[in-house]
Formats: sequence, C-alpha cells, structure tokens
Amino acid sequence: MLGNSLGLLSQDAERSLMRVLEEWKSMGIQGWLGGEQPWFYFAEMLGARAAALVGAEPEEVVATGSTTMNIHSLVSTLYELEGRRTKILADQLNFPTDIYALRSQLRLKGFDPREHLILVRSGDGRILDEQQIVEKMTNEVALVLLPAVLYRSGQLLDMPFLTKEAHDRGILIGFDCSHSAGVVPHFFDEWGVDFGVWCGYKYLNAGPGGVAFLFLNKKHFHRVPGLAGWFGYVKEKQFDLLLEFEHAPCAGGLQISSPSILSAASLEGSLAIILDAGVEAIRDKSIRITSYLIYLVEELLCGDPYNFCIGTPLDASRRGGHVSLEHPDEAFRICEALNARDVVVDFRPPNVIRIAPAPLYTSYIEVWQVVQFLKEIMERKEYMTFERARKVIS
Ligand SMILES: *Cc1c(COP(=O)(O)O)cnc(C)c1O
Repeated sequence: MLGNSLGLLSQDAERSLMRVLEEWKSMGIQGWLGGEQPWFYFAEMLGARAAALVGAEPEEVVATGSTTMNIHSLVSTLYELEGRRTKILADQLNFPTDIYALRSQLRLKGFDPREHLILVRSGDGRILDEQQIVEKMTNEVALVLLPAVLYRSGQLLDMPFLTKEAHDRGILIGFDCSHSAGVVPHFFDEWGVDFGVWCGYKYLNAGPGGVAFLFLNKKHFHRVPGLAGWFGYVKEKQFDLLLEFEHAPCAGGLQISSPSILSAASLEGSLAIILDAGVEAIRDKSIRITSYLIYLVEELLCGDPYNFCIGTPLDASRRGGHVSLEHPDEAFRICEALNARDVVVDFRPPNVIRIAPAPLYTSYIEVWQVVQFLKEIMERKEYMTFERARKVIS
C-alpha cells in the first residue's frame, strides 16, 4: 500500500536490468553505442517515452539525476533576475527537500531566503487554497514551484489554473510531480508549464534511488544551463572535448554527468508497463480504488472507538493516488501494527497514515482487507503493544 513511496519490482524492470548487466559483462565499454538500447542515448530515449506521462514533446523530457538535483538544475537555469522580480513562491506543505533547494538557490544569488522565499500557508495543515496562492503572485515574484500532489494530504493542485494565473502576471511556474507522475495525467504543453520534475522510484517503479526526470518547456531551450556538465553538450560534438560549452537545445542540455545506466535500465522496463496500460486507464482505476477505500473508512472507521478521519479531498478530481488517513493521537503506533500484519503503509507527522493502493498491482480485496485489519487493531487495542519511538526511516 505504498506505491507512492517505493513502487514494487516488475518482471519487465528485472529483465531490462539483467539485459544491461549482461551487455556490460559481454561488451564492456562498447555498450555505449552497441547496447540493444545504446547507453549513450538511454537518458534521451527514456525522456522521449516518458513525455507521454506529462503531455510534452519528446525532447522536452530527459531521465537524469534525482528530483532534488533536478530542481537545482532547473531553478538555476530559469531563475533570472529581471528588475524587481527577485522572489520565489512556494508553499508550506511541500516536501522539505524542495524548500531546502529553493533556499540554497536564493542564497547562491546573494538573497536572504527569509525575505525572498514566500511560502503560501495552509489554513488546516492539509490543503492549499489555489486562490490564496494566486494572491501571493505579486510583481516581485520571478518563479513559482509547487507540488502537483501534496505528499501528505494527497491534494491535487489545479495546475492549468495556476499556470495561467502565473503567466498572466509574468511569472514562470513549475511543478514537482513526484506524487502524480504515472498516476495522474498531465498536459504540460497545453497548459504552458515552464518546468517540472519527478521521481522514477514512486509510481514509476524504477527501484530505490532510481533515476528521476526533468521537463523543460521548449520555449526555454535557448537558456544556458545553470549547472553545466559534459552530458548536456550537443550530442554529436560531445566527444570533440572542446573547452567551450555548447548546450544541447533540449531538456537533455540540462544533464550534468554520465547517466547511471543500471538505474536507467530498470526504469526502461517499468515505464513500458505504464505506457502500455496508459495513464488515463491508471487514473481511472486509481480514482475507483481510492474512492472505495474512502467509502470503507467512512462507513466503518469513523466515530468511537476508531476515530479515524480522511485528510484527503473527497472530490476525486482534487486528489492524487494516495489517501491520508488521520488518527488524532495513535497514527504512528497504528502504522506499526499494520506493518506487523504485513501491510506496508507509512507514517507522516503529526497524525497521518498514508495508504496508496497502486493501481497497477493493488486489488480491491486488499483494500478491504486493510480496513478489516484497522478495525481489529482498534478493537483489540493491538497498537498498544508497540513503542512510540520512531525509527530513522518511517
Ligand atoms: C519523493 C520526493 C522527492 C525525493 O527527492 P530525491 O531527490 O529523489 O531524494 C522530492 N520532492 C518531492 C515532492 C517528493 O515527493
């Protein structure tokens, strides 16, 4: 029940990974051009395929780096100081690494993040109000970064609306789609989104620490990468090894280093399954299965002695692929009790149990089973046998 955190290994991912291992064994360095899928073009090839997930053109997406690293690389490329526009707008509920990255980008430009990073607040700690975000889009703001789906509550932001409002005010906007890519359709080109990032290891099932993606709208291809490296060079000339840097005019121009081919290999297989199923069909099942979970919780687990409530928007068009189940004081130990029954969920402070029935491999019966387990755990006070201390990873 945690496909939003680390997706499971598929046979396809295992097969493509083993194929590339075999290529390394038999070809050595020749694999860069001689692999079944030449390693030299692997990152661009995966980007071109993944473009369908976000409604982009093939050259606008590349598989590279990690999500946080890609935020650094995109923001350093797009955050240009023009007149009085020096501020970056983000939100209080985003995953902290995004905020750490934005603060350090501001510091590198000589700004004090306490003044130059504006964080939109949430009224209830769960949900962001899009209208309030727009109100913060002042003429001092240069760039906006927001999550597409919030990692805790699962709220899906209205990306086309926010993009239009940002552009009407001369502001660039990008989204972190770590919790939406592969489970929610996106139409970046139609909406005009400037940039985007997302992980490979969540709904895309590429494996622990798997390679991530970045999207750069083609209107920005001329911009010089803020963090240049030799893999962003115009490909045909990369091995001329000239000291003058000439970036590839595409998302691939933002690559910095040699791609991790073993990590990209498993992504090749896992991505094929998602493209085969189609994001629209995946979203359809995701809405049905999260609606079923919400229905069961509301019917069976609200009120004494259970006291759960749903922190995720009930309107399916406003949520992503996971459900946030809240418990006022025992969320952590209830998670432990579920884990002890072999149900993999996670705890997010202060009171959230995240449940993500991944549409590709979670069944309705499993969702029903989780709710029955929760009922028993509460009735028997099973959670009381666990310690309150949190482990290093939760
Ligand atoms: C999962 C996630 C990340 C992960 O960052 P890494 O750089 O891949 O470790 C970043 N941002 C958000 C919003 C996430 O959900």
